[in-house]
Amino acid sequence: MPPKKDKARSTVETVGASDDGVCFRCEMVSCGNPRCKQCKDAPSHGPYWYAYAFIEQRTITAYVGVELDEDKGRRRIAKKARAMGLRRRASP
Ligand SMILES: [Zn+2]
Repeated sequence: MPPKKDKARSTVETVGASDDGVCFRCEMVSCGNPRCKQCKDAPSHGPYWYAYAFIEQRTITAYVGVELDEDKGRRRIAKKARAMGLRRRASP
């Protein structure tokens, strides 16, 4: 197990977009349960990593997990993009 980054536990981070336009954000999330005391005032679960991509003016998001895994995020973005019938802008 790699050592936990304490910073990621309290700070919402963004890993900037790379060449392929995919960026990663670490976010606190709400579980959506109206009876959850933790989420009463603010989303309080996580933080979890999400991948974001902007393809053909559409925003695609994909859940990555507790640990940042860029390959996994890119695979999930690519799968969603295909399902939505979008093509990566870099493709000819
Ligand atoms: Zn909750």
